[in-house]
Amino acid sequence: MVEVPSFRSNEHFPQLCDKVTVKWDKKRGRFVEAIEDIPIGTVVCVETGITVNVDPQNCYRCLKITENASFAYCKNCEEFYEPDEIACGEFDELGIFKLAAHLVFSYPFADIASLVQSSDPEPPSCAPKALSTQDIEAIFQLTPFPEIGEAFKAPAIQNAIKRIVESLETDENWGRLDQISRTMTFTKALRIMAERSAKNAHTIYSIEQIESQEDNLPMATGLFPISSIFNHSCTPNISGFFVRNTFIFVSQGVRAREELLDSYGVTYHQHTFEQRTNFLASVSGFICHCESCFKMKSLKVLEKPKKYPETIATNASCFTDITSYTENIPRGSKELENLIIAFARRPDSETYTELIFQFWKKFVENAKFRGITYDPYLVRPYVEMTILAWNKEVGCENEEKMSLLIVTHRLLRNCYVDLHPLSEYVRYYGDAEKNFGSSSNSSMSLPIRMLTKLTER
Ligand SMILES: [Zn+2]
Ligand SMILES: [Zn+2]
Repeated sequence: MVEVPSFRSNEHFPQLCDKVTVKWDKKRGRFVEAIEDIPIGTVVCVETGITVNVDPQNCYRCLKITENASFAYCKNCEEFYEPDEIACGEFDELGIFKLAAHLVFSYPFADIASLVQSSDPEPPSCAPKALSTQDIEAIFQLTPFPEIGEAFKAPAIQNAIKRIVESLETDENWGRLDQISRTMTFTKALRIMAERSAKNAHTIYSIEQIESQEDNLPMATGLFPISSIFNHSCTPNISGFFVRNTFIFVSQGVRAREELLDSYGVTYHQHTFEQRTNFLASVSGFICHCESCFKMKSLKVLEKPKKYPETIATNASCFTDITSYTENIPRGSKELENLIIAFARRPDSETYTELIFQFWKKFVENAKFRGITYDPYLVRPYVEMTILAWNKEVGCENEEKMSLLIVTHRLLRNCYVDLHPLSEYVRYYGDAEKNFGSSSNSSMSLPIRMLTKLTER
């Protein structure tokens, strides 16, 4: 469980905050609406989902880093009962199967048994009065994707089902059923869970993974039935991030009676109309009706043909090559930002401190030109600049250093509350400042200590 001290829970929807309610209409289905203004930086949702690891160094169930790499579970989760084959990764190749099986074991056996005896649950046609991740009802309210059921006829899946059903013979609940009804019960419950997970499951990346923009293995996949109530918009007004198996959403400024809208992975400021449409159709299976999609709007600078920034950044023999290349990129084009990220990844980039500092500055200006002014996307460049600003080789004035620190703190706080991995050091700096005053010496050396910590992450 991740503690979010500033979060004020809703009486009827414990994973949502007290400033919202859940409504329903024909066009949107269920949606979350603000009952009062929700200032920027307010936590609006904290949901511990039902997750399974993808990266074996994370606990199968709660995604903590396991102390012993050969164990599937962390110490807290050892007692959790479910056939070991799943936790040990023996069915990892079977796509959604692992998550669906885990869902079957995450809800009380009585709920699963009654699910199987009734007809398939229907998606809701009104707003729920109360709902929590812990209710199996929350899963049934997700829109199913029945096509996935077909995939379950594959021999590999049928074999996996057979093995799990056999191992359930000794279970105190499942063991009471004879083998045929045990197989039927498990198979039907598994199919229903898979249908609910197919288009609603989330791939989980840590904050560090998202900011480094490297192609690592995700930590996990999981279902967050309450967070799934948030609809998508290409111009969202909330932003979400993961801390292990907990999905946290923060307001980016929402007015009373406005719908709370998240981005499912594409935004107007980062993707063309065509990219957005293709992504949402294939990944989430719907057509976006947000204002910019309705008008089929794209930012001109995003429409330019894609170059290959990675190749350019890797192959450039010296920095001058890249600098002159960047000058030809149209202002506001995302290509420049991609190039800078790829460039920062080069092992020799550290020797060009001053230049890379200027590059991150360009990154921010470029993104701002496209309309991105206050966004988690800017955290990385600001953190990088703050780290570099205290380097002697970067001729950065005190005034600029301080303003960088302030913006970085603000971004960390308003986008990630206090849960960004760097926040701890920011707090440390703040406390030290309070305790020792801000005479010019200490206020200059403390950021250095803080920033050294940042670079060690
Ligand atoms: Zn665990
Ligand atoms: Zn849209």
